[in-house]
Amino acid sequence: MTAIAHRDSPPLLQTVHVPEAILLDRDGTINVERADYVKTIDEFVLLAGALDALVALAMFAVPIVLITNQSAIGRGILTRGQIDGIHDHLCSLVRAAGGRIDAIYICPHRPDEGCSCRKPKPGLLQSAAAEMGFDLKQSIFVGDSITDYQAAQAAGCMPVLVRTGRQAPKVAQLAVDEPGVVLLDHLSAVVDWMNQRLAAGQTLFEMTSSAPPVD
Ligand SMILES: [Zn+2]
Repeated sequence: MTAIAHRDSPPLLQTVHVPEAILLDRDGTINVERADYVKTIDEFVLLAGALDALVALAMFAVPIVLITNQSAIGRGILTRGQIDGIHDHLCSLVRAAGGRIDAIYICPHRPDEGCSCRKPKPGLLQSAAAEMGFDLKQSIFVGDSITDYQAAQAAGCMPVLVRTGRQAPKVAQLAVDEPGVVLLDHLSAVVDWMNQRLAAGQTLFEMTSSAPPVD
C-alpha cells in the first residue's frame, strides 16, 4: 500500500490585491432608485441585502466612498442640506449595523452645466482619490448603470456592475457585448465575488486588462 501523504500543493504565493478603496454608486446600487429622485428620508429605501453588504465591505480596511450624481440639487428640487440630511440618515443606519461609509462625493450639477464631476466623467472619483490618498487603478467602483461603468473606466478603476437599478437591461446587454464585464446580481454578490477571488489568491484587477497592448 502506498502511504505517501498527499497534500494538495498550495498555489504559488502571490500578492492578494485587496482594493485600495471601494467606491459605490448610490441610487440603484445601495438604495432603490426613483425616477423622481430620492427627496426625503422616507423615500430613501435600502435595497434588500445592501446593509449587510455594507457591513461586510467594512471588513476590508480600506475607504468606502459613495460617488453619486444628484442633479436634483442643480434642478432646484432639493437643497444640499436636504441631501446631507438623507446621507446623515444613511450613515447612521450603516453605522448602527456595524458598517461605515467614509466619504460621500456628490455632483450637484444638471447635465447641461457641463461640469467635470457628473458621471460618466471621472471627476468625483479623481477628487476622492486625490483627497483621500488612494490609487484608482487599485480600486473598484460598483454601480448599476452604464455611466458608472464609463466613469470607472475613465478614472482607470475596476468597474463592477449590479443588476439592482433601472438600467438592469442595459447593463445586461453591455455584459453580452463586452466579455470581461463583471456583472453581478446585487451588492452582496459583489462581496461574495471579492471574497472568493481573494481567497483563491486572485487579484480583482486582472479583468481590467482592456488597456491597449503596448507596441
Ligand atoms: Zn458635477
